[in-house]
Amino acid sequence: MSTYTAPLRDMQFVLKEIAGLEEICALPGNEEMSVDLAESILEEAAKFASGVLDPINRGGDTVGSVCKDGVVTTAPGFKDAYALFRDNGWNAMPFDAEYGGQGLPAAVTMAVNEMWKSANMAFALCPMLTGGAIEAIAHHASDELKQKYLPKMVEGTWTGTMNLTEPAAGSDLAAISSKAKKMDDGTYRVSGTKIFITWGENDVAENIVHLVLARLPDAPPGLKGISLFLVPKFLVNDDGSLGARNDLICASIEHKLGIHGSPTAVMSYGEKDNCVGYLIGEENKGVGYMFTMMNHARVNVGLEGVGIAERAYQHALWYARERVQGAIIGDKSGEKKTILHHPDVRRLLMECKARTEAMRTLAYYAAAQIDKAKAGIDGAQARIDLLTPVVKGWSTEQGVELSSTALQVFGGVGFVEETGAAQYYRDSRITTIYEGTTAIQANDLVGRKLAREKVPGAAMKALIAEMSTDAEAIAGNAQLAGIAANLKAGIAALNSTADWILATYATDPAAVHAGSVPFLKLTGIVVGGWLMGKSALVAAQRIAEGSSDGYYTAKLATAAYFAAHQLPFAAAYAAEVTGGGASTLALAEPLF
Ligand SMILES: Cc1cc2nc3c(=O)[nH]c(=O)nc-3n(C[C@H](O)[C@H](O)[C@H](O)COP(=O)(O)OP(=O)(O)OC[C@H]3O[C@@H](n4cnc5c(N)ncnc54)[C@H](O)[C@@H]3O)c2cc1C
Repeated sequence: MSTYTAPLRDMQFVLKEIAGLEEICALPGNEEMSVDLAESILEEAAKFASGVLDPINRGGDTVGSVCKDGVVTTAPGFKDAYALFRDNGWNAMPFDAEYGGQGLPAAVTMAVNEMWKSANMAFALCPMLTGGAIEAIAHHASDELKQKYLPKMVEGTWTGTMNLTEPAAGSDLAAISSKAKKMDDGTYRVSGTKIFITWGENDVAENIVHLVLARLPDAPPGLKGISLFLVPKFLVNDDGSLGARNDLICASIEHKLGIHGSPTAVMSYGEKDNCVGYLIGEENKGVGYMFTMMNHARVNVGLEGVGIAERAYQHALWYARERVQGAIIGDKSGEKKTILHHPDVRRLLMECKARTEAMRTLAYYAAAQIDKAKAGIDGAQARIDLLTPVVKGWSTEQGVELSSTALQVFGGVGFVEETGAAQYYRDSRITTIYEGTTAIQANDLVGRKLAREKVPGAAMKALIAEMSTDAEAIAGNAQLAGIAANLKAGIAALNSTADWILATYATDPAAVHAGSVPFLKLTGIVVGGWLMGKSALVAAQRIAEGSSDGYYTAKLATAAYFAAHQLPFAAAYAAEVTGGGASTLALAEPLF
């Protein structure tokens, strides 16, 4: 049977050589972190992921969470695993020491989180949502709310949720109709129905802190009239103890294609007109505050793409080493061998391995920008803003593709549920939908992050300039000439397509948005190719210095594979973006 093993060697390489772990450890606020300590944390996390979370992943899928009369019972083992997760301090890892957190850098947290997602994505959603809620409260709530709620949330004793979606308000948050009214004592009463609320009700937490978007009676229409409220399942007394049950219930949980272990709740607020909420920040500024939470969550959902692809790959590789089927083309002995020897199975596995490594490198690199931005380093905020939709959109689209590719390695048994490969495919499918669909990420990329940026195109041009310099350095190593050539061509395609978008956006935004998803994929491929090229350069240097570590040889191979098999798509996407808008929009509505 395949069990999850954290890819520690690759994680450490990416953190040290690409994300700049040593530099991050030296940033103000990270004084207690060191490369050695980070490695020990990763090793402990790897044990927890393999030993505690992985074994309950199948039960999470086959039994799932159950809801009866508003009470959710999570899947077998989830409650105990969560207690261990909390007690071992894993929940507190990324947060400020002020509220009991351990203040780990984002880059280290990213690697640890990848393990949770690989081992058990449905479980990992619970701390992910709590983390997003903590960020929003920490940045925008009053000191009183922070003191009252954050310590228990950081500890993990209380979990958090985000409540945006309503039946008529999904991608379009302006359509939110949940209501709130102010009371004389300064609290609010919240009412409305929210759907699809991840971990909205559960039995692992003593209290659940819902962050709910709603409208005040005299609020302006649209996005500028939405406020954010903290709505606890149990009211909290001044001494921090739990008080009465608030007027909110979980009406039901959804039956879904995947992530069965994650209870996805329909939440009903204020059925008795007495659901107490507390305003976060100022009235009518809720959407902006919620974006603090969503940006955190978007990078983390992108990481789900990495985690699920890694797990699917490991399972497929295990099977490819076991399954004997047929003689191998070109092998004159005619001996029947494991399917790992078939050239096309090699291709399937290389697709998984190389593309997952590229996604991982991008995710950790992005996390390093979060750390650098926090320390005020020039350009880091612009870089992470630009890359957030790419990490989310590109990595999740790839996660779906690669969990399908991995399933193909199994042949017929991949389609059979007992094998487990189908679960990754089903679980991965939500990742391109929640936290903003791929289209919403792509809109963000071509709009706010490129054409409508303060200085239009500035962040993208800075990235392109840096990638071009690195491509020259890669070209300087004759062994990497093939990688460098394809990388340069990819960068040129990205550059000319970005120019086309900048020139076209004002006059024909529909044409730009018709190609925004291909542009997002083009960006992901080129940035992934750049980071794999940089990785190859380090590996080649280590080998030249005398290292015989097979890891470096493998990295050269995966980087070359990515350059040969993925970077050529850049030109195709460029052509699709710049020349495909008219045909996308050609069909009159009745002709569909
Ligand atoms: C399992 C699960 C968990 C979830 N967890 C949460 C949660 O915890 N909290 C929460 O608030 N929500 C949650 N959601 C909701 C999720 O975020 C929404 O489903 C998602 O944002 C899409 O909204 P929608 O379903 O209404 O689809 P719609 O917005 O109706 O979109 C339908 C299609 O139209 C496209 N589309 C819509 N608008 C545009 C546009 N402007 N440009 C281009 N294309 C567009 C979309 O890309 C999509 O293909 C969850 C959903 C699921 C299924």
